[in-house]
Amino acid sequence: MRRKLVIGNWKMHGSRASIDVLLSGLQSLVGNALSLGVAEGALVDVVVCPPCVFLPQVGAALSDGSIAWGAQTISEHEQGAFTGEISGAMLAEFDCQYAIVGHSERRSLFAESDAQLVEKFVAAQRVGLTPIFCVGETLAQREAGAALSTIASQLQVLIDRVGIDAIAGAVIAYEPVWAIGTGKTAAPEQVRQVHGHIRALFASASAQVAAGLQIVYGGSVNAANAAELLGSEDIDGALVGGASLKAREFAAIVTAACSAN
Ligand code: PEP
Repeated sequence: MRRKLVIGNWKMHGSRASIDVLLSGLQSLVGNALSLGVAEGALVDVVVCPPCVFLPQVGAALSDGSIAWGAQTISEHEQGAFTGEISGAMLAEFDCQYAIVGHSERRSLFAESDAQLVEKFVAAQRVGLTPIFCVGETLAQREAGAALSTIASQLQVLIDRVGIDAIAGAVIAYEPVWAIGTGKTAAPEQVRQVHGHIRALFASASAQVAAGLQIVYGGSVNAANAAELLGSEDIDGALVGGASLKAREFAAIVTAACSAN
């Protein structure tokens, strides 16, 4: 059985003080949810992705290892004159285990292209980080009937560059752009259809890789809708934005993941 994965993307939110409060809430509430879940046999992992400057603070608070942490993006370059960028080796030095790659805000606001994103995926794996590779369609693409073809083309660029074996060490996040930060959650049926399509795409290269791959959903996941989404067999977890900034709400999502697995 595939493990469920709950990822919190804090985006550009927080201060030293507010993150101290969030971290102590996560330690007690998420820690509790995980212990109860694990006692009942749940296979669930939790990751938080803070703004990079807070990585030392997060690492110190979460050093017991029950919650992992990662980066919201990563440079495709190893080092050099790239002002403002942060390399994979730097993230690894701060014990990041994951890096989000290709979040729709990076694609749209920072013009990161498919070609650049696959290099970021490679950069993450080069230093042992697990890429969380985000794909998803805009509302216009969905309304034009192009959701599945958009996602397929975002993934095909990746497969062509890294090969199917590299996909086995990654997480795919399906994040419809119209559902991110809007309060509009995709219906479980819509998510299942896309996840099935993604799995089938990988299965045409390797049935084994496809069967083991974690495909998570992101887009306005919260305490109220998590159980229904995560209860679906083909939804292996959630990438959570807004609701990950509230420890109680995030813990409720973790509890839903534990009950589902
Ligand atoms: C996200 O940032 O990836 C996200 C899904 O945000 P939200 O949960 O706020 O929609």
